[in-house]
Amino acid sequence: MSSIKLTHIYNPSYDELGQTCFEFLARLGGPSVIHLDGQEPDRCRVILTLLHGNEPSGLKATHQFIREQIRPKTSVKIIIASVVAARTEPVFTHRMLPGQRDLNRCFSTAEKDLQSVLASAISEFINSVRPEAIVDVHNTSGSGPAFCVGVARSNQHRALASHFTHRLIHTDIRLGSVMELDFGCPIVTVEAGGAQDDEADVTAYKGLLSFVCSDNVFQTKQQVEILDTPRRLELVPDVDVSFGEQRLNGSSITIRQDIEKFNFGVTPANQRIGWINGDINRSLQLDSQSSSVGDYFYVENEQILTKQPLKLFMVTTRADIARSDCLFYFVVS
Ligand SMILES: [Zn+2]
Repeated sequence: MSSIKLTHIYNPSYDELGQTCFEFLARLGGPSVIHLDGQEPDRCRVILTLLHGNEPSGLKATHQFIREQIRPKTSVKIIIASVVAARTEPVFTHRMLPGQRDLNRCFSTAEKDLQSVLASAISEFINSVRPEAIVDVHNTSGSGPAFCVGVARSNQHRALASHFTHRLIHTDIRLGSVMELDFGCPIVTVEAGGAQDDEADVTAYKGLLSFVCSDNVFQTKQQVEILDTPRRLELVPDVDVSFGEQRLNGSSITIRQDIEKFNFGVTPANQRIGWINGDINRSLQLDSQSSSVGDYFYVENEQILTKQPLKLFMVTTRADIARSDCLFYFVVS
């Protein structure tokens, strides 16, 4: 058993929630579960959100629909995870607290640090309520359209994604995220769009409303395109990165400042994505051993170019996230 206690709140009243999601956040003591009764109390759906403290769309959406006193189809458990990181000033800017591990990389470890213990408290709770479906709502750090991610591509996974978006990424990458665990039901990660984008809040709200109110949550709401087995372009540990309109001296890697414009579009072969000082394999790596950076990118005149048409997504222009997570994901287009 884990030693972190989740705070449980049952059917909060309009007044308990606060006028804004900032007030709502301030009233939560720490990692919390909001329990909402539904029309069919024997069935249960789980919403996870704020695993990353800088990704507020899921929290805003749940705050809004709880205030609207919507009665869900089934009982709903809303797990709000990184409350302390989220409300640490400046509010909604900390993915996790400084010095802590990324919570959504701690679900497959037996480590005893605070984040791993919280991850196991969350997974124990989810197992205890035997849900029929789970969604985990995030934002991307850069601007971009919504998409979902799953470790399976069944019709049920597609249907869960279809409440939110028309894209499902089927990934074989294992990072220790919650969607990799087997809860006996389908789970998808929702990337509602950029944390700063109003559209992401709307996507999260409409999607969650549809998720909690549908009679059959596995009935597809829209056609869903599958993007199969992306790779991650990562920095080799301790390599520095900058973002700029031209090569920046003193930086091993400079990624073009407007890289986000390639999100989900087709990036043709021979497209410059940045500049590099030295050997590409000393600075960049993929998540997988089965292929190498050189299969997809090459260097000419210190420019990093695509070798074949690619579809990039989850592109970031934040150096801290590029270092701790990755530059972007991609599939061959
Ligand atoms: Zn996230």
